[in-house]
Parts: sequence; structure tokens; C-alpha cells
Amino acid sequence: MTVRLFDSLSRELIEVSPVDGETVKIYSCGPTVYRYIHIGNMRSFMLGDLIRRALRFEGRNVQWIMNITDVGHMTDEVSDTGRDKMELAEADEGLSATEIAEKYTNAFLEDSDLVGIERADLYPRATQHIDEMIDLIKILIDKGHAYEVDGTVYYDVTTFPGYGKLSGNTLAQLRAGHRQEVAVDPAKRHPEDFALWKKAGPNRALKWPSPWGDGFPGWHIECSAMSMKHLGERFDIHTGGNDNKFPHHEDEIAQSEGAVGHQVVSIWAHGGFLQMSGAKMAKSAKNVYRVTDLVEQGIDPLAFRMLCLGTRYRSEMDFSWEALEGQNRRLADLRRRVASWGDAAAELSEPARELDERFREAVADDLDMPRALVVLNETVASKLPGGEKVALLSTWDDVLALDLLREARERWEPTDEMRALVAERDEARASKDYAKSDELRDRLQGMGLEVMDTAAGTQVRPRT
Ligand code: AMP
Ligand code: ZN
Repeated sequence: MTVRLFDSLSRELIEVSPVDGETVKIYSCGPTVYRYIHIGNMRSFMLGDLIRRALRFEGRNVQWIMNITDVGHMTDEVSDTGRDKMELAEADEGLSATEIAEKYTNAFLEDSDLVGIERADLYPRATQHIDEMIDLIKILIDKGHAYEVDGTVYYDVTTFPGYGKLSGNTLAQLRAGHRQEVAVDPAKRHPEDFALWKKAGPNRALKWPSPWGDGFPGWHIECSAMSMKHLGERFDIHTGGNDNKFPHHEDEIAQSEGAVGHQVVSIWAHGGFLQMSGAKMAKSAKNVYRVTDLVEQGIDPLAFRMLCLGTRYRSEMDFSWEALEGQNRRLADLRRRVASWGDAAAELSEPARELDERFREAVADDLDMPRALVVLNETVASKLPGGEKVALLSTWDDVLALDLLREARERWEPTDEMRALVAERDEARASKDYAKSDELRDRLQGMGLEVMDTAAGTQVRPRT
């Protein structure tokens, strides 16, 4: 079964097939790290993780990277005084810009762990790729796509005929909008041009030398430079939240394709927003929660993941505490049931295989997780032997990542035979008979166990 994803650019479902013939390469727009990320951001970050899991589920090799924005975000993140939000956070918290970035990057990673996002293969930082961004800007100037005015470099959008193809914000559309506006930067050739590099003002501390003088990069150029550096000039999937389509990804396409002269990203996948009672969840609206806020309310953070899986990733989703508490109870109940079904069966009957097929088809069909959860519910309620249900759910958990076997693991006890082998192994180790101890370890592993050497001797538990 081949995973199909909705491509926001062609507005079609596209089969995922790696351009290099080997590894599916995914780039996700990551967090801006001058503040804690909220559960809305988390919903968008989960999309990259879910795509990776779905692809692995069908046996693909996957490389997933997510950038960390630790400078820039100039359109909305630079305050009126011309200081980077990183710098303002620095002043507020008495930490250096590097320490702020470190603090919120770590918090972001810990929160990601809590909602079952497996760590990406790489988290490239914008501040560590300034040279690559400068090189890309130089290429864009050489190719006539960009121009410098007094230390600031702009992208000339009229040189890229496809501008607007992702978001629908074509130049004609944008111009109609601009007529109503008053202030347009007089240095720009066209009001729609956007900055690739910005001259540092007198208050600016976070700045770097460049061929155009001291300055700092635009937010969009960071993702063009880092995605192509780490994934190559053609890669498979680029993710972000819906709000990233414009201007961020529209500008990224103009930059990357302008520089290399061909399509770079095969599939653009965008996630719908998480809303609070119909309003956008945003720090400015003061309706944001962190994952740790859920934990403080006694909620298992994976219940939030389950809540998200209940809505198709492209749709907007309304957050409510009632719905979250409902999922929290459901998840606990599900884990209790799994624990009551005993060990996983080695073989699946025909009806179980059919359910597995339907689950896989739902996942492959543009991540139709609500449908996959319906199959899960049917399985739980079915008359299949418990062992087969455990076998199915434990496999499906590679995608769901709800830790469905948690209670089964906690309740698990070794059999008498396992206890005897463990005791025999501890004796062998005590008498330094390592050949025998290794042989016993292999036998225990052959029973599906993980074997750990601890200070208290051999410990075993079911392999997950
Ligand atoms: P930021 O740190 O502001 O750059 O945001 C990081 C990511 O979170 C971006 O990809 C946004 O599209 C996404 N995002 C921001 N707010 C929400 C929300 N309420 N629901 C879903 N995604 C969001
Ligand atoms: Zn980005």
C-alpha cells in the first residue's frame, strides 16, 4: 500500500515515492524558540511525525528534519523598536540570546516527547546556517532575482512567474490589496518584494557580517537554505501549519526554485489549525496551553495525541477540555483492556488480517486517522481472540504512538520457565561462565523478551 498525501500546491493526492529511489526526505517547519510552544503548534509538529510513522509502517526509509528558528521571523517577530523577539526575551529573562534559544529548544523537545513525537533525525538551527543563507542570497542576486538597497537585500517577486502558485496570492491579487494600504517601504522596487537579508539597526545585537554589511537573515531564507543543504535540491515532503503557506512557503518556493531553476519539493503538506471555541489559538489571544498544562490537570499527554488523531490533519480542530478528558478516560480504558487480553498471538486469523488491511489502507489514504480509529474500535469490540487483538494493536501503535501496551507491560509477570532461566543465567554470570550466560540470554530473547543486566541481576520484560 502506497501512502498518498494531499499536495497543497497541485491540490491533488500524490503517491509518496522517494525522488532518490531510497529514502523519503521530509522537512518540517519547526518552532521559533523565544517562548514555550503551545498545543496548537504541537498539532502542526505532530504532522511530520505522523507522516514519518505512516511511511515507516509501509516499510519505507525516512529521513526527517525540523528546523529551529533562533533568529529572524522578521515579518511578525521583530518589534516596533527593530529588535528581534529573541533579544526582547533576553532582556526580559536576563539570559543571553543563546541561552534563551537553548532553554526553549529543550522545552520544545521535552514537550514533543510527551505527545509521542519521535525525535527527528536532525534539528538544524538557523544561526548555524548563516553562511549557507548568504550563499543562497548571492546566487539569487547573480540570477537577477534579488537586489540590494542600502544593506538590505530584497527578492524581486516579478522575476518569478510562479509567484502565488501555492497560496493563490498572485501579484495581481496582492496588488489589489496593497492599493488600500498607505505605508510601503520606499526602498523596495515593488510592495510585494520581501527581504532576504536585513541591515542591522543601531539597537540590533544579533547580527552577522555579510557582503551587504552587518545584518540578519529573513525568516523564509532560512528554510530554503537548510532544507536544500540537508535534504538536497529535490526532496519529497515539506510540512507546516496552514498559516505557513503565505508568505513563508510561497517565498521559500520563489527562493529555492529561483536559485536552482527547478521544482525542489514534491509534496507540500499543511496542517489545519487548532482552535479554542472557534478562535485561533495564539499567544496574543491569551488562550494558549502548553503540553505541561495538560499534565498539571492530570491528563495523559498522549490523550491529546489521541484527540488530534480523531480529526483529519487538514481540518481545523476545536480544542475543548471536555473532549480531552473524554479521550483521557478512553485511553486509560483501552490500555486496561489490552492488558486483560494476555500475550500477543503469533498468527493472525483471516478476520484479523482484514482489519489490519483496513487500518493500513486508512493510514495510507492521506493519513485518515479518524477512519483508522474506527477500525481500532471495531477490533476492540470484535469477537477476535484477545491475543490477536493485542497483536494488531501493538503493531498499529507504531503509527498511533499511544503507548497502548503500557498497562500490559506494567502488569506483566514472567512465567515460571522464564524465572528459572533468569536464575540459571545469574548463577552462570556469578561463576563467570559467560558462554552459558550468553546462551541463556539468547534463549530468553528468543521468547520475545528484552534482557537487561542490572545491579540486581538479570531483568526481563516483553520487547516492545
Ligand atoms: P511558530 O513557532 O510561531 O513559528 O509556529 C510553529 C508552527 O506552529 C508553525 O508551523 C505554525 O503553522 C504552527 N501553528 C501556530 N499556531 C497554530 C495553531 N493554533 N494550530 C496549529 N498549528 C499552529
Ligand atoms: Zn519554514
